Amino acid sequence: MMETIIKGGTLITASASYQADIGIEGGKIVQIGRDLQGSTNVYDATGKWVTPGAVDIHVHMELDLGDVVSSDTFYTGTRAGLFGGTTSVVDFIEARADESLRDAFLRRKAQADAQVVADYGLHMTLTPHDMNKLDELVGLVQDGVPTYKLYMAYGHYLDDGELLRAFQAIARVGGLAVIHAENWRAIQVLVADALHNGNTSPIWHALTRPADLEAEAVGRAIALAHHVHCPIHIFHVGCDASVRRIVAARAQGVAVTGETCPQYLFLDETAYQRPHLEGALTVCAPPLRPLADQRAMWHALEHDHLQIVSTDHAPFTRAQKQRGLDERSFTRIPGGIPSIESRFTLLYNGVRQGFFSPSRWVELCCTRPAQLAGFTNKGNLAIGYDADVVVFDPQYAQTLRLDALHEQVDWTPYEGQALFGKVEAVWLRGKHAIHDGACLLQAGEGQFVARRF
Ligand SMILES: [Zn+2]
Repeated sequence: MMETIIKGGTLITASASYQADIGIEGGKIVQIGRDLQGSTNVYDATGKWVTPGAVDIHVHMELDLGDVVSSDTFYTGTRAGLFGGTTSVVDFIEARADESLRDAFLRRKAQADAQVVADYGLHMTLTPHDMNKLDELVGLVQDGVPTYKLYMAYGHYLDDGELLRAFQAIARVGGLAVIHAENWRAIQVLVADALHNGNTSPIWHALTRPADLEAEAVGRAIALAHHVHCPIHIFHVGCDASVRRIVAARAQGVAVTGETCPQYLFLDETAYQRPHLEGALTVCAPPLRPLADQRAMWHALEHDHLQIVSTDHAPFTRAQKQRGLDERSFTRIPGGIPSIESRFTLLYNGVRQGFFSPSRWVELCCTRPAQLAGFTNKGNLAIGYDADVVVFDPQYAQTLRLDALHEQVDWTPYEGQALFGKVEAVWLRGKHAIHDGACLLQAGEGQFVARRF
């Protein structure tokens, strides 16, 4: 007797599309085949697609920037993700200067555990004040935290020596470095010049963070990591100049991967020229780029020049964004864009537009992110994997509206976007999570996943 059978759909995996039923028991996929019998709990997916739960390895819930905190909690953010077909996420840990990495891990995990309705992992951020804590990485790997975020921007950026130290330590424990690549010192000069000349509006956020300097940082990170044999993943790539650095390194056999995000695929830098608050809403780093770069991101996904799509989901409300305008400086606008709920459907539209196949869509949003982040039981429809399953209607036509979303933020950059596809039902480890437009899971039903390579 199986707990659940999802019947009659077309299974889409990273390698194939075929008609089959899925049998679920004990939270796992236990059978895949035609005409499965033996359950009273049958979901009819006839005419629909069945995919693995989507995996988003770059999200920021309750991100504390000191004077503002991102507006989605672990509960509201993972719930919005579930509605959009995302069943696993990876968020971040930031240790205080006087706190051990392990204490910071336990503190952040406790904050998440009580709230999550999706499964989750945590990246450990390493800042300059963590350089004397690198011995702790051995223990963190045992705790299931094998990925480490290194910033080359913001006040807690690592200089080249610190980057090399961190790469050495990460390589030693068999981990993966995930990188925010920008040239912070150069950006600071350009920002000072802009403000000195009275250029305070949001477009200057983009003009002071030019693509060629972002690419310089990407290239530098790759060189330093490769020198000590540390695999790295470049977060939020939005410009062709950075893609070229990644492609060139991969052609040499360097262990580097890259991701882009919905904002670099659907928006461009003209968004910063919208009047008043509208121009400030889409401030994020690295910034949105010209339309030519947007097109280049689609081609990069098509040709595997970039390997995955994550969101960098970091919602800030209109009132929080207003701050930068009130203080008359683009540098005071909190950076971040929401998209955890729409990513999977947005990217399906790459299939509709002919950029890639349904299997590539699943590879970009589910399978590769799971592999890359060390979720060994997720991101695939195969026997023995967690029964994280999405039933998706590929024919549904919708116009995206804020009031249909569940993200805890009062704007979306995708308002009015015409889209095909809709997430119809979702299971998390065999538990029916989304049904008839409702979330059936309670806060805390998601689980921390110890990730391994
Ligand atoms: Zn981020």
